[in-house]
Amino acid sequence: MIIAIDGPAGAGKSTIAKEIAQKLGWVYIDTGAMYRAVALCILSQGIDLADTNTITAALANIQIKISHINKNQHIFLNKEDVTNKIRTSEISNAASTIAAISAVRDNLVQLQRTLAHTTNVVMDGRDIGSVVFPNADLKIFLTASLAERTNRRFKEQTENGKIVEWNKIFSEIELRDKADCSRVDSPLIQAEDAILVDTSNLTADMVVDHILQLAKDKVGVQFD
Ligand code: C5P
Repeated sequence: MIIAIDGPAGAGKSTIAKEIAQKLGWVYIDTGAMYRAVALCILSQGIDLADTNTITAALANIQIKISHINKNQHIFLNKEDVTNKIRTSEISNAASTIAAISAVRDNLVQLQRTLAHTTNVVMDGRDIGSVVFPNADLKIFLTASLAERTNRRFKEQTENGKIVEWNKIFSEIELRDKADCSRVDSPLIQAEDAILVDTSNLTADMVVDHILQLAKDKVGVQFD
């Protein structure tokens, strides 16, 4: 079975999806990490992000692997664990740029489909319900106001000891949303049959409970 969770940057997708997978005993797959890992590889080779042809050719030598260590997703780029390296704002923006390239998407969508072949998954991203798994058992479109999403990112980064500016985070998220929504291939959209969950005024626990209830009521998922 597949639960697809899509939505804009900072809506809390990974926190929520991870918790749901944990409660159901399913595998959580963060597809954003895959786009980030490709972006890291392209940047580290000094390739211009606007050079679609060179990026497309470079894909032949990019191997992305996902594995779960102590229930946490780790992402490997050509055998190197890059799980922590990909969490910078430079990589966020670069990921959004290369995610508009169809060859990049085709590669990663194939990997995402393969990962869900043999196991139940909760997968988060931008196009999981609309493109990757149009027949997903349950589709959630998770969102929150831009200000609230900025607050959460600001809090998370500050708690991690980073010195960040609220306004800078706000405009970066806004820009990334715009790029993700306006690209031609697989733009961020709410699939017709996805259920909208606005988390602006909800705690993470409330959102998790709500989605688990939907999974139970709509698709008969069993959990304790
Ligand atoms: O979810 P996360 O912020 O890590 O994603 C980074 C970028 O990767 C997004 O801004 C988006 O451009 C791209 N992405 C995508 N499709 C997905 C997941 C992520 O285009 N399924």
